[in-house]
Amino acid sequence: MDYNRLAELLFPSIDKTPEDYEAMYPERDLPEGAKVTRLGPSPTGFIHLGNLYGALIDERLAHQSGGTFYLRIEDTDDKRYVEGAVETVISSLRFFGINFDEGASEDGDKGAYGPYYQSNRGEIYQCFVKKLVQEGKAYPCFLTEDELAEIRAEQESAKVTTGIYGEYASKSRNLTYEEIEANINEGKPYVIRLKSTGTGNVPSEELKYIKVEDAIRGTVSMPENFQDVVILKATGIPTYHFAHVVDDHLMRTTHVVRGEEWLMSLPIHVELFEKMGWEPPTYCHTAVLMKIDDENGNKRKLSKRKDPELSLDYYRNEGYHPEAVKEYLLTILNSNFEEWRMANPDTPADQFLFTTDKMSSGGALFDLNKLNDVSKDVLLKIPAAELTKFMIEWAREFRPEILPLFESDPEYLTRILDLGRDGKKPRKDLIYAKQIFEFISYFYDDYFRIEATIPENVSDEDAVEILTRYLETYDHSDDQSQWFEKIRQIADSMGYALRPKDYKKNPDDYKGHVGHVSEVIRIAIMGRSQSPDVWEIQQILGEERTVERVKALIV
Ligand code: GLU
Repeated sequence: MDYNRLAELLFPSIDKTPEDYEAMYPERDLPEGAKVTRLGPSPTGFIHLGNLYGALIDERLAHQSGGTFYLRIEDTDDKRYVEGAVETVISSLRFFGINFDEGASEDGDKGAYGPYYQSNRGEIYQCFVKKLVQEGKAYPCFLTEDELAEIRAEQESAKVTTGIYGEYASKSRNLTYEEIEANINEGKPYVIRLKSTGTGNVPSEELKYIKVEDAIRGTVSMPENFQDVVILKATGIPTYHFAHVVDDHLMRTTHVVRGEEWLMSLPIHVELFEKMGWEPPTYCHTAVLMKIDDENGNKRKLSKRKDPELSLDYYRNEGYHPEAVKEYLLTILNSNFEEWRMANPDTPADQFLFTTDKMSSGGALFDLNKLNDVSKDVLLKIPAAELTKFMIEWAREFRPEILPLFESDPEYLTRILDLGRDGKKPRKDLIYAKQIFEFISYFYDDYFRIEATIPENVSDEDAVEILTRYLETYDHSDDQSQWFEKIRQIADSMGYALRPKDYKKNPDDYKGHVGHVSEVIRIAIMGRSQSPDVWEIQQILGEERTVERVKALIV
């Protein structure tokens, strides 16, 4: 067979050569050791935690090494295209502080290695398929759906591996030029298949293995590929296998970070790189994100259907601070991050040297409670004024009805958020915006409600008396100890023990203790029986509001 003639028959309009593309996309001019990584999402509109997890690895590898991180849109499967999906990917990741240096962007392609949409790279793929045909390494296959089904049924009943390989490929592999030409003239659809040189269906001791140094998993050894996989579909669009090989080569990618679901097809990719005569990138197959199932306590994959926390929108809606999410992801990404964090409590997380060899290849366990713990620590380090800005932006997007409260008096919000955060044992109860607002909502009259009931051992009459006397003696300029002294006096004179332990010892001698008295006051002012320091809260609320709230309960 004259393969050159065949290639011309199949790709008459492809006039560029592989060398043209090699020249158009030269090796990148980057410092020694710089890594080039990419995110290759399909534009399905759903961006999830796994994407962020992978993107963070990509971003860290590239930016820690002075390299480049680019965005390539893998849209060869147009059934999955969702309008606006690319903008969603970009803006969601930007929110988490992950920015691309190059690639698809909101203002079109940016960079010298484009086009960055696979759907715009048709000619490039075809040029390289043409090269494989010229070299006798790929061939057209006219098998119809029915014929494929027949082969599959035959293989299933013979209990052999299904697919097009060896004897099952021979019919298509052995077509003559004339037969192919006649098929094409008849308008028969066809795909292009790789002519695999791997051996299948041999006794296991004769199987040949590929060996790949995966940056996360170490040496990966798998039986080599022997399937004549499709590289170009009947539509002229490449399969993922072929497209990523061409793209990662021409875009000069050094590290491919992708989910472990791709591990299975690694032998195909290794063969494709070899047939193309190219050096494969370093693969980094990440572990699947797992969680402990709430119902049965078993470890399982995070699921789109069951777990709202898989979607990145969840974190934005709830108002997680991007730094908290990033910090948490680093703790699951690198086993030594927490230790580093302890030794460097105030260093920005970006200064941690992330490495793929400290990543676990078993399932990465995602735990919302742990995220919440990390978030408490992270928020503590963010100045209150900055948290105020964050709360305002969150409200603008997700709770517009409370935005005026924040915007009309940001200083008020800052004082609220700063409450009890200094000192040796700072309070750690701010976690995410939605929770923060619930936590502090009593500072805003519209959201202030009496949510707690007064302690059982305080009678209604006593409650009124406590509050009346509190009001009579209230002086907004009292310092904390003067203020508390007055509460003690009220307690003492009304028959409440000054020390809880005295009450516990002799419960019949007292109505309760000073804590019960201050709880009544707390409930009047905050509506809750638990809260930060009452005196400090009053200072923020101001005299007028404090007095009004106490009055409101004296009826
Ligand atoms: N387009 C693939 C996906 O959506 C990307 C795989 C890769 O990064 O190579 O999962």
